[in-house]
Amino acid sequence: MTEEAFDVVVVGSCMTDLVSQAPRLPKAGETIHGHKFFIGFGGKGANQCIQAARMGAKTAMVCKVGKDFFGENYIQNFKDNGVSTEFVGQTADAATGAASIVVNDAGENAIVIVAGANLLLGGEDLQQALPALSHAKVLVSQLEVSPDTSLQALRLAQENNVKTIFNPAPAIPDLDPDFYRASVVFCCNESEAELLTGVAVATVEDAGHAGQELLRRGCRSVIITLGSQGCVVLSGQEPSTGLHHVPAKPVTAVDTTGAGDSFIGALAFYMATFPTMPLQEMVSRANQVAGVSVQKIGTQASYPYKKDLPNNLF
Ligand code: ATP
Repeated sequence: MTEEAFDVVVVGSCMTDLVSQAPRLPKAGETIHGHKFFIGFGGKGANQCIQAARMGAKTAMVCKVGKDFFGENYIQNFKDNGVSTEFVGQTADAATGAASIVVNDAGENAIVIVAGANLLLGGEDLQQALPALSHAKVLVSQLEVSPDTSLQALRLAQENNVKTIFNPAPAIPDLDPDFYRASVVFCCNESEAELLTGVAVATVEDAGHAGQELLRRGCRSVIITLGSQGCVVLSGQEPSTGLHHVPAKPVTAVDTTGAGDSFIGALAFYMATFPTMPLQEMVSRANQVAGVSVQKIGTQASYPYKKDLPNNLF
């Protein structure tokens, strides 16, 4: 392993997006001609890691891809973004995770996701990555790999006093209650908060109620992102002061895909780089980073580098 500790280690998913644009979505059994095709890099884990790396964090990704063209391509993408691939495993037993996406002229889409190799990331891979996991400044995990693997990663980090961010995405209804206690920051979007708590979340006030429920379940700090409304932050250490709404600056959004991952990658960067900064300030800055990402089309393609961001964010 490289000698210096990593700022941010992400245990999570890689997905290749195969995007076809067509006048309309095909019916069952039908073949139609589209007018544009492109390949994009996605997967919540990889997105978050790449945003943190672009801001200047020393990052490593712990994930699994297939022994196939898409796997090779994804490893090169990590290298191009300065992410360590020391713990990127390749398997012949499944294909690299892929999302086949068709978008029609009205902007509607039909998507098939095959998680493939992502689901083969397991305990042995975490053990191999333990030197990095146990010395990281921040560990981030989500739910696009097996939940057991995510929980194990969070526990290993906790045992080694590594700060953790857990992003319960995509949300699953019967989340193991240990997840609520296994992270320093529990960060989800409004629909995930709603699915987990049963509280309908449309407003800042609703998000506050859902956040209180997540604190009751054992979370230490909760962030619920609310798109153009920014997010709410709640801390278990100061339940009496209630919630803090951290608004996003108004911008002209052209594509919000992956904004949540940009936010979490930026947050991981701030937690690793400015450990004494108040969470609300980190969140305010992460809002601004994600706010830049929504002004460009694409997922990782829209994520800003340090050079694209104002100096006062560093
Ligand atoms: P996705 O699933 O597309 O990655 P998400 O639903 O997880 O997104 P959001 O809550 O939509 O995440 O957005 C995350 C953050 O991105 C927000 O908290 C905010 O900082 C920023 N953001 C998103 N949409 C906008 C917008 N229209 N204007 C300004 N900032 C935005």
